[in-house]
Amino acid sequence: MDQPRKAPPAPAFRVGHGYDLHRLEPLPPAGEGRPLVLGGVTLDHDMGPVSHSDGDAALHAVTDAVLGALGEPDIGQLFANTDPRWESSSSDVFLIEAVDRMRNAGYSVSNLDLTIILERPKLSPVNGEMRSRIAGLLGVDESAVNVKGKTHEKVDAVGEGRAVEAHAVVLLVRS
Ligand code: MG
Repeated sequence: MDQPRKAPPAPAFRVGHGYDLHRLEPLPPAGEGRPLVLGGVTLDHDMGPVSHSDGDAALHAVTDAVLGALGEPDIGQLFANTDPRWESSSSDVFLIEAVDRMRNAGYSVSNLDLTIILERPKLSPVNGEMRSRIAGLLGVDESAVNVKGKTHEKVDAVGEGRAVEAHAVVLLVRS
């Protein structure tokens, strides 16, 4: 007779990928509207994201990478964009929840590689601040977080400045 199958041991490493895009719209004058926030840092720009939460595409991609590595439901399933609790919410709360789930599953972040695609403004002045914010949320040293900014060479909606896109790859290690 077949023996009952034992659950396989938790793998030593788990990799996850996250992707997000937000449409950008011109901000009304007088400091109104939703400012462009990326990696937890507010950028000085005349366009802002169309979003239920604060529209931080970078943190959304990182959150989905962590959740994806764990095999957990994605950010849209956990934090519905129809739920008034997340209206204008800082995206920190989404990543904090993903990190809680990661710790409960017995993993920590080995490293994160994040690419943000945005025509303007330039991300280099805030790159260090984004890296530091994300490392803090993940509970890792800044050396474990890489943030790259790229343009879309004026091609398509992202290249025309009408959207921002982010891709994240994370490696989790069993703690
Ligand atoms: Mg999003």
